[in-house]
Amino acid sequence: MTTTDAATAARELFTALTGAAPAGLWSAPGRVNLIGEHTDYNDGFVLPFAITHRTVAAVSPRSDRVVRVASTFAPDAVEVPLGDLDDLFPARRDEIAEWARYPLGVVWALQGHAASDATGFDIAIASAVPVGAGLSSSAAIECAVAVAVDELWALGLDRSALALAGRRAENEAVGAPTGVMDQMASMHGEADAAIFLDCRSLKARAVPLGFAEAGLEVLVIDTRVSHAHSTGGYRERRASCELGARLMGVPALRDLGVDDLPRAQELLDDVTFRRVRHIVTEDQRVLDTVRTLGEEGPLAIGALLLASHASMRDDFEISVPELDTAVATAMAAGAVGARMTGGGFGGAAIAVVDRGLVSPVTAAVEQAFADAGYRAPHIFTVTPAAGAGRA
Ligand code: ADP
Ligand code: MG
Repeated sequence: MTTTDAATAARELFTALTGAAPAGLWSAPGRVNLIGEHTDYNDGFVLPFAITHRTVAAVSPRSDRVVRVASTFAPDAVEVPLGDLDDLFPARRDEIAEWARYPLGVVWALQGHAASDATGFDIAIASAVPVGAGLSSSAAIECAVAVAVDELWALGLDRSALALAGRRAENEAVGAPTGVMDQMASMHGEADAAIFLDCRSLKARAVPLGFAEAGLEVLVIDTRVSHAHSTGGYRERRASCELGARLMGVPALRDLGVDDLPRAQELLDDVTFRRVRHIVTEDQRVLDTVRTLGEEGPLAIGALLLASHASMRDDFEISVPELDTAVATAMAAGAVGARMTGGGFGGAAIAVVDRGLVSPVTAAVEQAFADAGYRAPHIFTVTPAAGAGRA
């Protein structure tokens, strides 16, 4: 489904639900992380960008204090009185269908900013962001609802505050322990730019990518591999990072630089040291990527993307053979740079490629997967695009 199709579908679903046209359409994009992996929960740096694939929410205010949400995903709408949200989240969230916790969780998170007699909404959602392909459909649905509610309740919150409401919904209403990178990318995105985010200060700044002028495209290679131990693996990596920071005597690994690595190697066991080395060098690579984009342009970032992949494969040990094959094959077919993106243990890789090489790189990766006996990957291009707003 394209974003235009999603807008039509959201409008139609809204009319089927209410018999009327919506007051407006709001939408928010998915995102791809260009570089900076597992650095978010270490108070470090990330560099994601919003994409043209968007989730659309058709919304009208109601005259009573009820919120009703519907999605093309789900057969039934879910209806909750605004006054019940504080009882439901987080304690009784299991009573709400999982998908509905995302939009209702955002309304819950924003309710504290609204007038005590604020009325509810009818919300109909459709999405062009595929679920579970590493594009953060969850942030897209949260941020689409957040901008709609902000406008209809006239809250006047800034984009970072709306991103934080999205994270609160995901952490507490859904129950997924994630950082705020995805929502910040979805809220702050700009055309042909990435969002440089300091995960400690939460300061976000758009960094021009220059991909359009350089004739570059970003290929997403979704391996469609998802490993059962990805949740456990994530928890384990977080624990290693916390241990490393504690043993090194810093609040977070963000506070270490590459100069501290020799001391870390003396102090830490081999596994913890390598986990720490990934985070410390990855933070540096994000800073280097921002600087390189400004000084030399996007054709010069390939080595940083590759070094990031190698660090995740060898030090953080979160890659899988399918991701390594995707990266190696894209590079052999002429990509500027490539790396796995997202939490790891499966998911997607990205490759930055010249426009003219999109087809041959795609074909080469498909062939390599077939030769290796892997499941066929989904390969598509994404374009760095604007953040959440009126559709
Ligand atoms: P992703 O990597 O795509 O963000 P998540 O597991 O974090 O994967 O979030 C996906 C979940 O978000 C879906 O299982 C669903 O519960 C919810 N979701 C995303 N988009 C929609 C939508 N358009 N309608 C309803 N629920 C959605
Ligand atoms: Mg998600």
